[in-house]
Amino acid sequence: MNIYVLLKRTFDTEEKISIQNGRIAEDGAEFIINPYDEYAVEEAIQVRDNHGGDVTVITVGGEESEKQLRTALAMGADKAVLINTEDDLDHGDQFTTATILAQYLKDQEVDLILAGNVAIDGGSGQVGPRVAEQLDIPFVTTITKLEIAGETVTVTRDVEGDSEVIETSLPLLVTAQQGLNEPRYPSLPGIMKAKKKPLEELELDDLDLEEEDVEAKTKTIEMYLPPKKEAGRVLEGDVAVQVSELVQLLRTEAKVI
Ligand SMILES: Cc1cc2nc3c(=O)[nH]c(=O)nc-3n(C[C@H](O)[C@H](O)[C@H](O)COP(=O)(O)OP(=O)(O)OC[C@H]3O[C@@H](n4cnc5c(N)ncnc54)[C@H](O)[C@@H]3O)c2cc1C
Repeated sequence: MNIYVLLKRTFDTEEKISIQNGRIAEDGAEFIINPYDEYAVEEAIQVRDNHGGDVTVITVGGEESEKQLRTALAMGADKAVLINTEDDLDHGDQFTTATILAQYLKDQEVDLILAGNVAIDGGSGQVGPRVAEQLDIPFVTTITKLEIAGETVTVTRDVEGDSEVIETSLPLLVTAQQGLNEPRYPSLPGIMKAKKKPLEELELDDLDLEEEDVEAKTKTIEMYLPPKKEAGRVLEGDVAVQVSELVQLLRTEAKVI
């Protein structure tokens, strides 16, 4: 089975984030594999181990994304592809990324594509479904279980706390939700092996794409951090007193009633 994982390098949102000139400042930020993509990598490895085939991880980004691709190889993926846009593009959006990924995947024999449900930085959840649309294959988002029997695939998806079971077929694109599996840590032998695994680097030219073909359809007007949260207030004393104080505060301070 030919399995592909769409993997995004993101900054760690647990770190302090600052904005400079309308962009997230990259100096000092820690970069990681988008956490939802770790579930996608883990699931891809398990599907390969059960059904045979190869797992290829693929990223649209710059040279520095090699680190996250090597981590996925160390987890157990077989090959990596970096589509390096550094020299060709300054701006991009979900259309840009999805079009580049789809153009690469159009020329591959694809059975299963796994993406993250959402990137923890951009957070639009658009790239996976857009890639599937461009490839004209079915997609199921936010999955928590994947079972493959021949060409038939049974998928359980998270629908805001409830579950929905869908039967579909290969080729298929799914996006991973938390709970799909427990991503493994790369082992030391895995890290050693990863250094020798193939990592192909491509540019737009290699995909017969011109800058105009992938020009962003959207423009970011402004980027800002949410206002700082004020410290909360704990009411004390008898419950009846707390309730009446709370009602008064809701009326006079919060002005919500
Ligand atoms: C050349 C270029 C320049 C850019 N410049 C800017 C900029 O100036 N400012 C800015 O804010 N953003 C920029 N971006 C990023 C872009 O706007 C989005 O972050 C990106 O398209 C993904 O959207 P998202 O973060 O909402 O991901 P989502 O759609 O939420 O991601 C869902 C899933 O899609 C897959 N995926 C997403 N991105 C990639 C990727 N790059 N490679 C492989 N798989 C992926 C992953 O599986 C991920 O879990 C640029 C992108 C490109 C290609």
